[in-house]
Amino acid sequence: MIQRFGEPQAAARWCAEQRAQGRTLGFVPTMGALHEGHLALVRRARAENDVVCVSIFVNPLQFDEKSDFERYPRDFEADAGALDAAGAQMAFTGTLAGFFSRELRADGSFDPAFLEDPGAPAQGLEGALRPGHFAGVATIVRRLFETVRPARAYFGQKDFQQTLVVRELARRLGAPPIVVCPTTRERDGLALSSRNVFLSAEERARAVAIPRALEAARARFAAGERRASELARVLRDSLAGFALDYATVRDPECWTGEEPQGELERAVALVALRLGAVRLIDNRALHTQDGAL
Ligand code: AMP
Repeated sequence: MIQRFGEPQAAARWCAEQRAQGRTLGFVPTMGALHEGHLALVRRARAENDVVCVSIFVNPLQFDEKSDFERYPRDFEADAGALDAAGAQMAFTGTLAGFFSRELRADGSFDPAFLEDPGAPAQGLEGALRPGHFAGVATIVRRLFETVRPARAYFGQKDFQQTLVVRELARRLGAPPIVVCPTTRERDGLALSSRNVFLSAEERARAVAIPRALEAARARFAAGERRASELARVLRDSLAGFALDYATVRDPECWTGEEPQGELERAVALVALRLGAVRLIDNRALHTQDGAL
């Protein structure tokens, strides 16, 4: 049976024991409401490490909208059962005060002086549209790494810009190696997301336009188009009529806040849009057949 801890300190002790016994620890940070995308990360971690540990923490520091934080789905019992079946040995939760006893002010708010600088990958797109989001991500991920001290940590390509922020953080800290796993999708191509449960049947049907737009951009790239502006135009044309936050391309190995000008030999197409009250994001590489980077 999977071990469960409600306090980071207890989780840290368990992880230290595992390391002391010479076992390698694979770590998968999540916000719970687990789906097949998360479980694919767990299985990959299981294949590459002796034991797998998963954090389940809806991190208030990374939510820029209070309503999004409050209604984020939470079901620890269901999550622990799914993790057990996927081969994880330990799951832990925590509270903001449990993770950051010294960083909270008297009124319980987080002292911004202790926020991690998310660095250059936080420029543009999600970083520009969600102020403070990546500082909140980097701050909790650093604390999670310090708690678990994993041999490897696993993140999904679904949140591409986040993978860049986390890689930059790990580079600064000197560890751990970051493994980026491909996006798990529904049969029609929609990326799995904990927020998909909030889509109405009609919105769910319309959401398939996102993977189709990404595929249209891939087809143009495969046909020889390399101009960033044209590849982005294909995305935007495919998503006409949607409430777009962005539909754009970047060089995946040279992140820029703005859309690059000129031609791209490697490209990642990124989309964020709102369908009713739900915000969806997705991306795919254009220079690979399966979209993985
Ligand atoms: P979240 O719980 O949304 O913070 O996600 C936890 C981890 O799972 C992050 O590294 C995400 O990128 C990853 N993830 C979320 N959805 C998917 C998906 N559809 N496929 C692969 N990884 C995912």
